[in-house]
Formats: sequence, structure tokens, C-alpha cells
Amino acid sequence: MARKRFIAGATCPACGAQDRVYVLVNDDDQLISRHCVDCAFEEQVESMEENRPTDAVVQEWTPVRLTGLSNKPPASSGESSD
Ligand SMILES: [Zn+2]
Repeated sequence: MARKRFIAGATCPACGAQDRVYVLVNDDDQLISRHCVDCAFEEQVESMEENRPTDAVVQEWTPVRLTGLSNKPPASSGESSD
């Protein structure tokens, strides 16, 4: 049996309504189709090899190490406390 699952923050590509788009998923949690409750938008999801959310990318940041600025001891670095 298919179940409805609303997608938070999703925008309908047809009418532009936000938070009105839901998907139908089957018992294996696989996407069947997308629908909009505000308009007649309907899109079949034919082949989803992986249904992982791609918008959850975590951006990694490398801290910049400043060298040679002054002789101040590092105040807030928990690297090594000698
Ligand atoms: Zn719509």
C-alpha cells in the first residue's frame, strides 16, 4: 500500500506552492510518485536508483591557520596545552 509523505520545504514545480507537495511511497519506502495538493501536478518517479536526499550536503570548512601575525599566545585553541 502506498503512503503519503509530505516533503518539508518542497516547492511545487507546477504552481509554486510550498509545503504542498507530497510523495507516495510504498512499503519499501521507495518513491512512487510526486503530487501537489494545490494543483493537479503529478509526476511518476520511474527509476530511483538511490533515494538519498542530495540537499543534505554538509560543507566542510578548513580552519585557516594564521601564522606570523604576532607573538600572542593562541587564546582559544584547544590543540595542545603545554
Ligand atoms: Zn502545485
